[in-house]
This record gives sequence, C-alpha cells and structure tokens, in this order.
Amino acid sequence: MTMEDQDGKEGGGSMQRIALRRAELGEGFAVARALPTRERRMVGAWCFLDHMGPVDLARSDGMRVEAHPHTCLQTFTWMIEGEILHRDSLGSEQIIRPGQVNLMTAGHGIAHTEYSLGGHSLHGAQLWIALPPEHADMAPAFDHYPELPMWSRHGVTFTLLAGGFEGHEAPTRLYSPLVGLDLHAPRGGRVELPLSTDFEYGILPTQGEVGIYDVDMEADAPITDAFIYMPPGGETLNLSLPPGGRCLLIGGRPFGGTISMWWNFVASSREYIDQAYLDWQRGSTRFPPVPGATHRLNSPQPPWMSQDT
Ligand code: MN
Repeated sequence: MTMEDQDGKEGGGSMQRIALRRAELGEGFAVARALPTRERRMVGAWCFLDHMGPVDLARSDGMRVEAHPHTCLQTFTWMIEGEILHRDSLGSEQIIRPGQVNLMTAGHGIAHTEYSLGGHSLHGAQLWIALPPEHADMAPAFDHYPELPMWSRHGVTFTLLAGGFEGHEAPTRLYSPLVGLDLHAPRGGRVELPLSTDFEYGILPTQGEVGIYDVDMEADAPITDAFIYMPPGGETLNLSLPPGGRCLLIGGRPFGGTISMWWNFVASSREYIDQAYLDWQRGSTRFPPVPGATHRLNSPQPPWMSQDT
C-alpha cells in the first residue's frame, strides 16, 4: 500500500491522503471538513462530511444553526458527545444523543434548525448523502435512530450507522449502496475489516490517531489530521486505534453521476438549484416555517445566476 498526496486514481488501489479544511462556525466552535474538497468531492453518495468538535461548551456558545433549507440530499448526524435539538418544517422535533443518528431526507425541499443543548462537550459528525436522480425530488421525511447495531472484537467496538457490515444491517433509510461505521477502542485495538470491492471508502480519525496497515502489517505514519480515501478494489483494511481512539469509516458504490452543490442545496442541475434558491428567498410554501425558529438564514445567490434574476 502506498499513500499519495495527489489524486490517486492512476494508482490502482493506492490510498489518497486529503488535508482537512478547518472552519470556525461560531465562538470556540470548530469543524474540520473532509468532504467536499478540491481533491475529492464524494465517497459513494456521501457528499459532505464535517467533523464537529469536540467543542468545550464552557468556552463556546455551542451550535445554533437557524432555519435553512435543503434539497435532493439526506442530512445525517452522528453524535459522539452532547445533544442537539433538531426541528424541521415537517413538524419533527427530536433531540439526538450520543450513539444515535438523525437522518433528514430533504427530497423536494425541507427546512430545519439545529441547536446544541447543555452539557460539557459537543462532538460528532455531520454528513450529507446525495439522493440518486430517481429519488432526488421525493417527498421529504425525517427519521431518528435511537439504537444501532453494535458489536466488539479485538478491542474495537463497532457501531453500524448505515448500510450493512460483517452480517449486521443498520435500520437507516438509504437510497443507494452505502456504509457508515464508527470504530471505538476504549483500551486500544487492532482489526482487519472486510471491504466490498465495488465500494470506495473514506476514513476519518475522530479521536486520537488511526494506524492503517498493509497486508504485511507494515504501517504508514498514523493518521490524525487527514481524511483517507480508498478507491474500489480493496478487499481488506487493517486498522489500529490507541486507547480511547475512534474513527469513522464511510463507503459506497461510486455515485456514477455529477451533482451540483450550492450553499445548502444539492441537485442534478444548476437550474434546479436556481429554482430552490428563489423559492427559499421568496418564502415559498415549498419550504414551510420551522416551528420555534427565530429567523431564517439568507442564501447567497448562486454565482452562475445573472444578477437581475
Ligand atoms: Mn442543515
């Protein structure tokens, strides 16, 4: 196995190491963006991945994201520490706690707010899944998954967030072949993971460092501050985690189409995004009010739209 800094698509199985983009969403509230980046737009249908925190809530206002819309995607929240209150324009109101997943299917259109609640720390991951063209414009939905399949071996506790893995199946509503897996090693551990050869994968360390080994058990440098992309074709992956270490594995069959993204909108065409932008800015019934929201976020205009629209 070799690790490449550049686009690995010539490498036939080589991994790609992608630097995270850091952003501050508020006072003391840091996120590290793994997707999309210039080097890599998607992993399967996963098209957005922010590692959120860990945020010390004694030194931060926490998370307060006011009403904003989404289209043609699913927003996927995985909580490691802390609690977030989700409310949406369908009337859903749901607190998400550690070990749980919230999944909002935007389809034709939905709006939501996200507020962190009290506690010491906020830590999790926020992802988007692009809906395939035949489902992109579907009716919106919201699902909460309070319990997910969990199992342990070789010191590693697995929590299956989406899809199937090692004979387990997550209940998560999906529209394309995907997997999402949290690996946590309270006292450290090393495991060999079976991979689907038609999937591409991404690995994000969320706590401590992750060691990735080749079949001869030779390690590259441990990964702490990067996102690792693996192209399809791999059969196994050997990972090690130090005591307390944790990482997120995402994967999926390559999406096989292009998507447009602007602000919080995803679509298969720029025209669809233009209409969603106009509908949001004009307060269309496409995006009903979110109960309890104090205000609506303003969308920046898509740069390709003419100024006089
Ligand atoms: Mn959102």
